[in-house]
Amino acid sequence: MTASDWRKILKQLESKPAIKARFIKFCKPKERKFGIAAYKCIRCGRYGAHIKKYGLHLCRQCFREIAKEIGFKKYM
Ligand SMILES: [Zn+2]
Repeated sequence: MTASDWRKILKQLESKPAIKARFIKFCKPKERKFGIAAYKCIRCGRYGAHIKKYGLHLCRQCFREIAKEIGFKKYM
């Protein structure tokens, strides 16, 4: 699972506790310490083109949209 959030599956499995426990044990994505899937955009959830600088944690597309609002003057 890449772009979508796997935690949505847990919401679907609320009514099925046994299947939910099995999912957590065998099918939950691995916790990543590094690599492309370690960082996620806090605004849209995208994995690629992540900007970690200044603690932004945004993807480049979201950064383009909100750069002026958060005070970047030179970004067009
Ligand atoms: Zn984003």
